[in-house]
Amino acid sequence: MLIPFNRISLADRELEYLTTAAASGATSGDGPFTRRATHLLTGITSSPYALLTTSCTHALELSALLLELEPGDEVIMPSFTFVSTANAFVLRGAVPVFVDCRPDTLNLDERAVEAAITPRTKAIVVVHYAGVACAMDPITEIARRHGVPVIEDNAHGLGGSYRGRPLGSLGALATQSFHATKNVQCGEGGALLVNDAGLRERAEILREKGTDRSRFMRGQVDKYTWRDVGSSYLPSDVLAAGLTAQLEAFGEIQRRRHEIWSAYYEACDEFVRPTVPSDTEHAAHLFYVLATSNAERSRLIEHLASAGVQATFHYQPLHDSPAGLRFGRTGPGGCPVTEDVAERLVRLPLYPGLSDREAATVIAAVRSFRPVSVVAVR
Ligand SMILES: *Cc1c(COP(=O)(O)O)cnc(C)c1O
Repeated sequence: MLIPFNRISLADRELEYLTTAAASGATSGDGPFTRRATHLLTGITSSPYALLTTSCTHALELSALLLELEPGDEVIMPSFTFVSTANAFVLRGAVPVFVDCRPDTLNLDERAVEAAITPRTKAIVVVHYAGVACAMDPITEIARRHGVPVIEDNAHGLGGSYRGRPLGSLGALATQSFHATKNVQCGEGGALLVNDAGLRERAEILREKGTDRSRFMRGQVDKYTWRDVGSSYLPSDVLAAGLTAQLEAFGEIQRRRHEIWSAYYEACDEFVRPTVPSDTEHAAHLFYVLATSNAERSRLIEHLASAGVQATFHYQPLHDSPAGLRFGRTGPGGCPVTEDVAERLVRLPLYPGLSDREAATVIAAVRSFRPVSVVAVR
């Protein structure tokens, strides 16, 4: 392939920081770069408190631990998402209740949420697909009425906003991913944003193997001990060093991602393109088009491949996957929109290191695609 679907881009100071961290000997978690990256992250998201984790998957697992989910508890979430959104709760014995997505934003359909609530509902998880905000006010209002917290799986949403408020600051908890495919990456990494102050102290303990070691390191207690359940969710400070450089370059990363996204948007006017509601600012996480059918999608992906462009489909619905059927259930109304769009969606390469020339190649390849027209046969 001339143009791979993803390619990581190093930030200006990334190698320098990685070397500094590795050479310093302070390579375990919660070192100086972890503090810097955490500070930058709370600045971008306006979240009052952040904890770096080894992945978004682990931040979701930490969320499930913090909410003290028990077997049989239910968690409402979209079917159109990554497996970790569901797995984190299934690991606690909870039941994912899959709700359909909206046909425009492909986000959790707020009109279908309330019907899926039962006395066992313990949380609503939203995913800001492609970095476009969910309808957070209606969803938050439903959650408030039923006394359940909202968790933002914000893996796509860093830098996006809803009604002027940054994504990641809107749920009781929010999770970030710094996986190699995300807007800001350190290979494997993540963060838990704790917006509900009541969960802060316990989040810190659960992330540190159930101990109050973090308080000890700050000199707040004179020894540390086992206080709660927990696990090890701290990334090495070497990874945090790479992350620090990326977060420092966040403005530049986003500028370039938006530039490419907008060029794609203009060029793909013969396809169904992403919808960005007027009260949101998207994070330019990914760009997709919807083909008219599954067969047309296959032809489009092949056509792009023949032009050297690696395009891919995206999530397979969770509700009718083998594990989804085993561990979850589907809310009233099913997930017909999810089933339909999952079959037709195509993502184009989008990363800051994509050159103007490469973007032009992608655009030319998309524009030279001719859907097979339906010919009436007499
Ligand atoms: C990437 C992604 C995750 C998982 O992130 P990791 O950091 O790889 O664990 C979870 N949810 C969504 C929506 C994602 O896109």
